Amino acid sequence: MAAVVDGTMMAGPPPSVGLDKSRSGRTTEVVVIGAGPAGCLAAIAAANAGAQVTLLERADFPREKVCGCCIAPRGLSVLADMALSHVLDGAPRLGEVRLESERASVRIDRDSGVALSRGAFDTRLVGAAADRGVDILHGTLATVGADGVVRVHRAGTELTLHPAACVVADGLSGRSLDAHPGVSWRVSRTSRIGLGAILPPGSIRIGRGEVLMRVERGGYVGAVELEDGRIDVAAAIDHEVLRRETPCAAMMNRLGSAVRDVAAVESARWTGTPWLTRQRSTLAMPGILVAGDAAGYVEPFTGEGMSWALASGCAAGQLAARMIHEPSCWLQWPAHWEGLLRRDRWRCRLVAHLLRSPRTVHAGLTVARRWPTIAARLARTIGQPHHPDSPRFRAIT
Ligand SMILES: Cc1cc2nc3c(=O)[nH]c(=O)nc-3n(C[C@H](O)[C@H](O)[C@H](O)COP(=O)(O)OP(=O)(O)OC[C@H]3O[C@@H](n4cnc5c(N)ncnc54)[C@H](O)[C@@H]3O)c2cc1C
Repeated sequence: MAAVVDGTMMAGPPPSVGLDKSRSGRTTEVVVIGAGPAGCLAAIAAANAGAQVTLLERADFPREKVCGCCIAPRGLSVLADMALSHVLDGAPRLGEVRLESERASVRIDRDSGVALSRGAFDTRLVGAAADRGVDILHGTLATVGADGVVRVHRAGTELTLHPAACVVADGLSGRSLDAHPGVSWRVSRTSRIGLGAILPPGSIRIGRGEVLMRVERGGYVGAVELEDGRIDVAAAIDHEVLRRETPCAAMMNRLGSAVRDVAAVESARWTGTPWLTRQRSTLAMPGILVAGDAAGYVEPFTGEGMSWALASGCAAGQLAARMIHEPSCWLQWPAHWEGLLRRDRWRCRLVAHLLRSPRTVHAGLTVARRWPTIAARLARTIGQPHHPDSPRFRAIT
Protein backbone atom coordinates (compact mmCIF):
# COMPACT_ATOMS: atom_id res chain seq x y z
CA MET A 1 0.00 0.00 0.00
CA ALA A 2 1.47 3.36 -0.98
CA ALA A 3 1.28 6.48 1.14
CA VAL A 4 -1.10 9.27 0.16
CA VAL A 5 -0.14 12.84 0.94
CA ASP A 6 -2.37 15.86 0.85
CA GLY A 7 -0.37 18.86 2.00
CA THR A 8 -1.99 22.15 2.96
CA MET A 9 0.45 25.01 2.89
CA MET A 10 0.22 27.47 5.74
CA ALA A 11 2.36 30.54 6.40
CA GLY A 12 6.14 30.25 6.13
CA PRO A 13 8.64 28.48 3.91
CA PRO A 14 7.98 24.93 2.65
CA PRO A 15 9.86 21.99 4.23
CA SER A 16 13.28 21.40 2.76
CA VAL A 17 12.45 17.74 2.07
CA GLY A 18 9.10 16.90 0.47
CA LEU A 19 7.05 14.43 2.55
CA ASP A 20 5.13 12.94 -0.34
CA LYS A 21 8.25 11.59 -1.98
CA SER A 22 11.51 10.56 -0.35
CA ARG A 23 14.90 11.58 -1.71
CA SER A 24 14.90 8.30 -3.64
CA GLY A 25 11.59 9.28 -5.26
CA ARG A 26 9.61 6.50 -3.51
CA THR A 27 6.50 7.25 -1.45
CA THR A 28 6.64 7.01 2.34
CA GLU A 29 5.34 3.65 3.54
CA VAL A 30 6.29 3.78 7.23
CA VAL A 31 6.32 6.92 9.38
CA VAL A 32 8.16 6.89 12.73
CA ILE A 33 7.48 9.66 15.27
CA GLY A 34 10.43 10.42 17.60
CA ALA A 35 14.16 9.90 16.96
CA GLY A 36 15.18 8.52 20.36
CA PRO A 37 16.58 4.96 20.60
CA ALA A 38 13.13 3.38 20.00
CA GLY A 39 12.28 5.52 16.97
CA CYS A 40 15.72 5.20 15.36
CA LEU A 41 15.73 1.40 15.74
CA ALA A 42 12.16 1.20 14.40
CA ALA A 43 13.16 3.27 11.36
CA ILE A 44 16.31 1.22 10.73
CA ALA A 45 14.53 -2.14 11.15
CA ALA A 46 11.72 -1.10 8.78
CA ALA A 47 14.25 0.23 6.23
CA ASN A 48 16.26 -3.02 6.49
CA ALA A 49 13.04 -4.89 5.64
CA GLY A 50 12.74 -2.85 2.44
CA ALA A 51 10.24 -0.18 3.51
CA GLN A 52 10.54 3.49 2.55
CA VAL A 53 10.67 5.21 5.93
CA THR A 54 10.33 8.81 7.13
CA LEU A 55 11.48 9.65 10.67
CA LEU A 56 9.94 12.77 12.24
CA GLU A 57 11.65 14.46 15.20
CA ARG A 58 10.49 17.52 17.11
CA ALA A 59 13.94 18.61 18.33
CA ASP A 60 17.02 19.77 16.50
CA PHE A 61 19.95 17.41 17.19
CA PRO A 62 22.27 17.04 18.98
CA ARG A 63 20.10 17.36 22.10
CA GLU A 64 20.63 16.03 25.60
CA LYS A 65 17.86 14.56 27.73
CA VAL A 66 17.35 13.43 31.32
CA CYS A 67 18.91 9.95 31.33
CA GLY A 68 21.54 7.98 33.24
CA CYS A 69 23.30 7.39 29.86
CA CYS A 70 24.24 3.75 30.72
CA ILE A 71 23.49 1.38 27.86
CA ALA A 72 23.09 -2.07 29.44
CA PRO A 73 24.40 -5.32 27.90
CA ARG A 74 20.96 -6.12 26.49
CA GLY A 75 20.98 -2.83 24.57
CA LEU A 76 24.50 -3.56 23.32
CA SER A 77 23.37 -6.93 22.01
CA VAL A 78 20.40 -5.37 20.13
CA LEU A 79 22.81 -2.88 18.53
CA ALA A 80 25.25 -5.67 17.62
CA ASP A 81 22.43 -7.74 16.04
CA MET A 82 21.55 -4.71 13.89
CA ALA A 83 25.23 -4.11 12.91
CA LEU A 84 25.15 -0.80 14.79
CA SER A 85 27.90 -1.31 17.39
CA HIS A 86 29.98 1.44 15.74
CA VAL A 87 27.62 4.08 17.20
CA LEU A 88 29.22 3.29 20.60
CA ASP A 89 32.78 4.15 19.52
CA GLY A 90 34.68 5.87 22.35
CA ALA A 91 32.03 5.08 25.01
CA PRO A 92 33.68 4.05 28.32
CA ARG A 93 32.99 0.47 29.43
CA LEU A 94 31.30 0.27 32.86
CA GLY A 95 32.72 -2.48 35.09
CA GLU A 96 31.90 -1.44 38.66
CA VAL A 97 28.87 -0.17 40.59
CA ARG A 98 29.34 1.86 43.80
CA LEU A 99 26.10 1.65 45.81
CA GLU A 100 25.74 4.10 48.69
CA SER A 101 23.05 4.91 51.24
CA GLU A 102 22.93 7.20 54.27
CA ARG A 103 24.77 4.63 56.37
CA ALA A 104 26.55 2.17 54.13
CA SER A 105 28.44 1.77 50.90
CA VAL A 106 29.46 -1.20 48.78
CA ARG A 107 31.32 -1.77 45.50
CA ILE A 108 30.09 -4.50 43.17
CA ASP A 109 31.87 -5.81 40.07
CA ARG A 110 29.28 -5.70 37.35
CA ASP A 111 29.33 -5.30 33.59
CA SER A 112 26.85 -2.43 33.22
CA GLY A 113 27.51 -1.91 29.52
CA VAL A 114 28.83 1.47 28.37
CA ALA A 115 28.23 5.19 29.06
CA LEU A 116 27.45 7.54 26.19
CA SER A 117 25.84 10.99 26.26
CA ARG A 118 22.40 11.13 24.67
CA GLY A 119 23.61 14.00 22.52
CA ALA A 120 26.13 11.63 20.90
CA PHE A 121 24.11 8.38 21.03
CA ASP A 122 20.87 9.66 19.50
CA THR A 123 22.69 11.74 16.85
CA ARG A 124 24.79 8.73 15.80
CA LEU A 125 21.66 6.53 15.61
CA VAL A 126 19.97 9.13 13.39
CA GLY A 127 23.11 9.11 11.20
CA ALA A 128 22.91 5.32 10.95
CA ALA A 129 19.22 5.58 9.95
CA ALA A 130 20.14 8.10 7.22
CA ASP A 131 22.83 5.68 5.97
CA ARG A 132 20.10 3.03 5.53
CA GLY A 133 18.00 5.35 3.38
CA VAL A 134 15.60 6.72 6.02
CA ASP A 135 14.40 10.30 5.38
CA ILE A 136 14.78 12.35 8.54
CA LEU A 137 13.02 15.60 9.36
CA HIS A 138 14.13 17.48 12.47
CA GLY A 139 12.21 20.40 13.98
CA THR A 140 9.01 18.57 13.05
CA LEU A 141 6.06 18.09 15.40
CA ALA A 142 3.85 15.14 14.45
CA THR A 143 0.43 14.06 15.70
CA VAL A 144 -1.77 11.07 14.84
CA GLY A 145 -5.51 11.61 14.60
CA ALA A 146 -8.40 9.26 15.27
CA ASP A 147 -8.51 8.66 11.51
CA GLY A 148 -4.94 7.31 11.62
CA VAL A 149 -3.70 10.28 9.61
CA VAL A 150 -0.27 11.68 10.60
CA ARG A 151 -0.25 15.48 10.77
CA VAL A 152 3.13 17.08 10.37
CA HIS A 153 3.90 20.63 11.52
CA ARG A 154 7.20 22.06 10.34
CA ALA A 155 8.46 25.58 9.78
CA GLY A 156 4.92 27.00 9.63
CA THR A 157 3.76 24.28 7.26
CA GLU A 158 1.14 21.61 7.97
CA LEU A 159 1.04 18.44 5.91
CA THR A 160 -0.89 15.21 6.29
CA LEU A 161 0.48 11.74 5.64
CA HIS A 162 -1.36 8.42 5.21
CA PRO A 163 1.39 5.81 5.61
CA ALA A 164 0.66 2.09 5.72
CA ALA A 165 2.14 1.99 9.23
CA CYS A 166 3.09 4.53 11.87
CA VAL A 167 5.37 3.74 14.84
CA VAL A 168 4.80 6.16 17.72
CA ALA A 169 8.05 6.45 19.71
CA ASP A 170 7.67 9.94 21.15
CA GLY A 171 8.83 9.07 24.67
CA LEU A 172 7.49 9.79 28.16
CA SER A 173 6.26 13.29 27.44
CA GLY A 174 5.14 12.64 23.89
CA ARG A 175 1.69 13.93 23.02
CA SER A 176 1.34 12.82 19.43
CA LEU A 177 -1.52 10.41 20.32
CA ASP A 178 -3.47 12.95 22.41
CA ALA A 179 -6.21 13.30 19.81
CA HIS A 180 -6.66 9.56 19.51
CA PRO A 181 -9.82 8.41 21.35
CA GLY A 182 -9.31 5.65 23.91
CA VAL A 183 -5.55 6.21 24.24
CA SER A 184 -4.53 7.45 27.66
CA TRP A 185 -1.77 7.09 30.25
CA ARG A 186 -2.21 5.17 33.51
CA VAL A 187 0.29 6.93 35.78
CA SER A 188 1.31 5.30 39.06
CA ARG A 189 0.27 7.42 42.05
CA THR A 190 3.49 6.59 43.86
CA SER A 191 5.59 7.45 40.86
CA ARG A 192 8.71 9.61 41.09
CA ILE A 193 9.94 12.45 38.91
CA GLY A 194 13.16 12.35 36.87
CA LEU A 195 15.79 15.09 37.21
CA GLY A 196 19.12 15.39 35.46
CA ALA A 197 21.99 17.48 34.14
CA ILE A 198 25.46 17.11 32.67
CA LEU A 199 28.24 18.52 34.87
CA PRO A 200 31.83 19.51 34.02
CA PRO A 201 34.63 16.93 34.32
CA GLY A 202 35.80 16.29 37.89
CA SER A 203 32.77 17.86 39.60
CA ILE A 204 31.63 14.54 41.15
CA ARG A 205 33.87 12.00 42.91
CA ILE A 206 33.67 9.13 40.48
CA GLY A 207 36.13 7.02 38.50
CA ARG A 208 36.00 6.28 34.76
CA GLY A 209 34.11 3.05 34.20
CA GLU A 210 32.31 3.32 37.55
CA VAL A 211 28.56 3.80 38.11
CA LEU A 212 27.71 5.67 41.32
CA MET A 213 24.21 5.03 42.77
CA ARG A 214 23.21 6.85 45.96
CA VAL A 215 19.91 5.82 47.54
CA GLU A 216 18.60 8.35 50.05
CA ARG A 217 15.26 9.22 51.62
CA GLY A 218 12.96 10.64 48.94
CA GLY A 219 14.82 9.27 45.94
CA TYR A 220 18.04 8.07 44.37
CA VAL A 221 20.66 9.57 42.12
CA GLY A 222 23.12 8.03 39.67
CA ALA A 223 26.29 9.46 38.15
CA VAL A 224 28.65 8.28 35.45
CA GLU A 225 31.59 9.72 33.49
CA LEU A 226 30.78 10.21 29.80
CA GLU A 227 32.94 9.70 26.72
CA ASP A 228 34.35 13.25 26.92
CA GLY A 229 34.95 13.32 30.70
CA ARG A 230 31.80 15.26 31.58
CA ILE A 231 29.63 13.74 34.33
CA ASP A 232 26.04 12.73 33.69
CA VAL A 233 23.83 12.94 36.78
CA ALA A 234 20.25 11.61 36.77
CA ALA A 235 17.81 11.01 39.61
CA ALA A 236 14.32 9.79 40.48
CA ILE A 237 12.87 11.97 43.25
CA ASP A 238 9.56 11.94 45.18
CA HIS A 239 7.35 14.78 44.02
CA GLU A 240 6.75 15.62 47.72
CA VAL A 241 10.48 16.34 48.03
CA LEU A 242 10.34 18.67 45.05
CA ARG A 243 7.58 20.66 46.74
CA ARG A 244 9.94 21.42 49.62
CA GLU A 245 13.31 21.59 47.85
CA THR A 246 14.51 23.24 44.64
CA PRO A 247 15.79 20.77 42.01
CA CYS A 248 19.35 21.88 42.79
CA ALA A 249 18.91 21.38 46.57
CA ALA A 250 17.27 17.98 45.98
CA MET A 251 20.29 16.89 43.94
CA MET A 252 22.84 18.37 46.33
CA ASN A 253 21.19 16.60 49.28
CA ARG A 254 21.16 13.25 47.53
CA LEU A 255 24.65 13.47 46.04
CA GLY A 256 26.03 14.39 49.50
CA SER A 257 29.76 13.82 49.90
CA ALA A 258 30.09 12.73 46.25
CA VAL A 259 30.03 16.42 45.22
CA ARG A 260 33.52 17.79 44.63
CA ASP A 261 32.56 21.08 42.93
CA VAL A 262 29.54 22.68 44.65
CA ALA A 263 29.48 25.64 42.24
CA ALA A 264 29.16 23.26 39.28
CA VAL A 265 26.10 21.58 40.83
CA GLU A 266 24.57 24.96 41.72
CA SER A 267 25.05 26.42 38.27
CA ALA A 268 23.90 23.29 36.37
CA ARG A 269 20.74 23.46 34.29
CA TRP A 270 18.58 20.81 36.02
CA THR A 271 15.86 19.44 33.77
CA GLY A 272 12.81 17.48 34.94
CA THR A 273 10.51 14.81 33.48
CA PRO A 274 6.83 14.00 34.02
CA TRP A 275 5.93 11.29 36.56
CA LEU A 276 7.96 8.26 35.60
CA THR A 277 6.07 5.00 36.17
CA ARG A 278 3.26 4.76 33.67
CA GLN A 279 1.54 2.54 31.11
CA ARG A 280 -0.37 3.32 27.91
CA SER A 281 -3.93 2.02 27.83
CA THR A 282 -3.45 0.81 24.23
CA LEU A 283 -0.26 -0.27 22.45
CA ALA A 284 -1.60 -0.78 18.94
CA MET A 285 -4.42 0.36 16.70
CA PRO A 286 -5.07 -0.14 13.00
CA GLY A 287 -1.99 1.27 11.27
CA ILE A 288 -0.31 2.33 14.53
CA LEU A 289 2.23 0.66 16.88
CA VAL A 290 3.50 2.28 20.10
CA ALA A 291 7.11 1.55 21.20
CA GLY A 292 9.77 2.66 23.69
CA ASP A 293 8.84 4.88 26.65
CA ALA A 294 5.73 5.95 24.72
CA ALA A 295 4.31 2.47 25.46
CA GLY A 296 5.10 2.51 29.18
CA TYR A 297 7.95 3.11 31.61
CA VAL A 298 9.12 1.98 35.03
CA GLU A 299 11.40 3.99 37.36
CA PRO A 300 14.96 3.91 36.08
CA PHE A 301 17.01 2.39 38.96
CA THR A 302 18.16 -0.65 36.96
CA GLY A 303 19.10 1.53 33.94
CA GLU A 304 17.34 -0.54 31.28
CA GLY A 305 15.01 2.00 29.61
CA MET A 306 17.18 2.49 26.52
CA SER A 307 17.64 -1.27 26.14
CA TRP A 308 13.88 -1.75 26.27
CA ALA A 309 13.46 1.11 23.79
CA LEU A 310 16.03 -0.39 21.39
CA ALA A 311 14.48 -3.88 21.61
CA SER A 312 10.87 -2.75 21.28
CA GLY A 313 11.69 -0.19 18.58
CA CYS A 314 13.46 -2.84 16.52
CA ALA A 315 10.53 -5.27 16.80
CA ALA A 316 8.00 -2.52 16.02
CA GLY A 317 9.94 -1.52 12.89
CA GLN A 318 9.97 -5.12 11.64
CA LEU A 319 6.21 -5.42 12.18
CA ALA A 320 5.53 -1.99 10.61
CA ALA A 321 7.29 -3.12 7.43
CA ARG A 322 5.04 -6.20 7.34
CA MET A 323 1.94 -4.03 7.77
CA ILE A 324 2.55 -2.58 4.28
CA HIS A 325 1.35 -5.90 2.82
CA GLU A 326 -0.60 -7.34 5.80
CA PRO A 327 -2.43 -4.40 7.42
CA SER A 328 -4.06 -6.59 10.12
CA CYS A 329 -0.80 -7.73 11.71
CA TRP A 330 -0.84 -4.70 14.07
CA LEU A 331 -2.99 -7.03 16.21
CA GLN A 332 0.15 -9.02 17.12
CA TRP A 333 1.92 -6.07 18.70
CA PRO A 334 0.54 -5.98 22.31
CA ALA A 335 1.34 -9.67 22.92
CA HIS A 336 4.78 -9.35 21.35
CA TRP A 337 5.60 -6.22 23.38
CA GLU A 338 4.53 -8.04 26.58
CA GLY A 339 6.70 -11.02 25.70
CA LEU A 340 9.71 -8.78 25.08
CA LEU A 341 9.53 -6.71 28.24
CA ARG A 342 7.07 -7.93 30.87
CA ARG A 343 9.49 -9.88 33.07
CA ASP A 344 12.19 -7.15 33.03
CA ARG A 345 9.69 -4.40 33.78
CA TRP A 346 8.21 -6.42 36.63
CA ARG A 347 11.68 -6.99 38.17
CA CYS A 348 12.60 -3.32 37.77
CA ARG A 349 9.35 -2.30 39.46
CA LEU A 350 10.05 -4.66 42.36
CA VAL A 351 13.56 -3.20 42.85
CA ALA A 352 12.18 0.36 42.75
CA HIS A 353 9.55 -0.60 45.33
CA LEU A 354 12.07 -2.23 47.70
CA LEU A 355 14.31 0.86 47.50
CA ARG A 356 11.57 2.98 49.04
CA SER A 357 12.37 1.49 52.44
CA PRO A 358 15.65 2.76 53.99
CA ARG A 359 15.69 -0.38 56.17
CA THR A 360 15.60 -2.70 53.15
CA VAL A 361 18.33 -0.66 51.45
CA HIS A 362 20.54 -0.84 54.52
CA ALA A 363 19.94 -4.59 54.91
CA GLY A 364 20.68 -5.12 51.20
CA LEU A 365 23.97 -3.21 51.38
CA THR A 366 25.02 -5.07 54.54
CA VAL A 367 24.36 -8.42 52.86
CA ALA A 368 26.20 -7.25 49.72
CA ARG A 369 29.24 -6.27 51.80
CA ARG A 370 29.29 -9.59 53.62
CA TRP A 371 28.68 -11.77 50.54
CA PRO A 372 30.03 -9.75 47.59
CA THR A 373 30.03 -12.74 45.22
CA ILE A 374 26.30 -13.31 45.71
CA ALA A 375 25.62 -9.57 45.27
CA ALA A 376 27.69 -9.46 42.08
CA ARG A 377 25.90 -12.54 40.73
CA LEU A 378 22.48 -11.00 41.44
CA ALA A 379 23.46 -7.64 39.95
CA ARG A 380 24.70 -9.38 36.81
CA THR A 381 21.21 -10.77 36.09
CA ILE A 382 19.92 -7.24 35.45
CA GLY A 383 19.93 -5.83 31.93
CA GLN A 384 21.35 -8.98 30.30
CA PRO A 385 20.51 -9.94 26.71
CA HIS A 386 17.74 -12.45 26.29
CA HIS A 387 18.91 -15.87 25.25
CA PRO A 388 18.34 -16.28 21.50
CA ASP A 389 16.27 -19.44 22.12
CA SER A 390 13.99 -17.66 24.57
CA PRO A 391 10.42 -17.23 23.27
CA ARG A 392 10.72 -13.59 24.40
CA PHE A 393 13.56 -13.04 21.98
CA ARG A 394 11.98 -14.54 18.87
CA ALA A 395 11.66 -12.15 15.91
CA ILE A 396 8.14 -11.54 14.73
CA THR A 397 7.46 -13.94 11.88
C1 LIG B 1 16.33 9.85 35.55
C2 LIG B 1 16.42 8.87 34.44
C3 LIG B 1 17.53 8.05 34.32
C4 LIG B 1 17.61 7.10 33.30
N1 LIG B 1 18.72 6.34 33.20
C5 LIG B 1 18.81 5.42 32.22
C6 LIG B 1 20.00 4.64 32.05
O1 LIG B 1 21.02 4.83 32.72
N2 LIG B 1 20.00 3.67 31.11
C7 LIG B 1 18.92 3.45 30.30
O2 LIG B 1 18.96 2.52 29.47
N3 LIG B 1 17.80 4.20 30.40
C8 LIG B 1 17.72 5.18 31.34
N4 LIG B 1 16.62 5.97 31.41
C9 LIG B 1 15.50 5.72 30.51
C10 LIG B 1 15.75 6.25 29.08
O3 LIG B 1 16.10 7.61 29.13
C11 LIG B 1 14.48 6.06 28.25
O4 LIG B 1 13.93 4.80 28.51
C12 LIG B 1 14.77 6.18 26.75
O5 LIG B 1 15.21 7.48 26.42
C13 LIG B 1 13.53 5.87 25.95
O6 LIG B 1 13.78 6.03 24.58
P1 LIG B 1 12.59 6.41 23.58
O7 LIG B 1 13.18 6.38 22.24
O8 LIG B 1 11.40 5.59 23.88
O9 LIG B 1 12.16 7.92 23.97
P2 LIG B 1 13.01 9.25 23.99
O10 LIG B 1 14.44 8.98 24.13
O11 LIG B 1 12.34 10.12 24.99
O12 LIG B 1 12.80 9.88 22.54
C14 LIG B 1 11.56 10.40 22.15
C15 LIG B 1 11.81 11.42 21.03
O13 LIG B 1 10.54 11.82 20.47
C16 LIG B 1 10.57 13.20 20.19
N5 LIG B 1 9.18 13.67 20.14
C17 LIG B 1 8.32 13.78 21.17
N6 LIG B 1 7.12 14.19 20.73
C18 LIG B 1 7.22 14.33 19.39
C19 LIG B 1 6.32 14.71 18.37
N7 LIG B 1 5.02 15.01 18.63
N8 LIG B 1 6.76 14.76 17.09
C20 LIG B 1 8.05 14.45 16.77
N9 LIG B 1 8.96 14.08 17.72
C21 LIG B 1 8.54 14.00 18.99
C22 LIG B 1 11.39 13.79 21.33
O14 LIG B 1 11.95 15.05 20.98
C23 LIG B 1 12.47 12.70 21.53
O15 LIG B 1 13.63 12.95 20.77
C24 LIG B 1 16.53 6.96 32.40
C25 LIG B 1 15.42 7.78 32.51
C26 LIG B 1 15.35 8.74 33.49
C27 LIG B 1 14.15 9.64 33.57
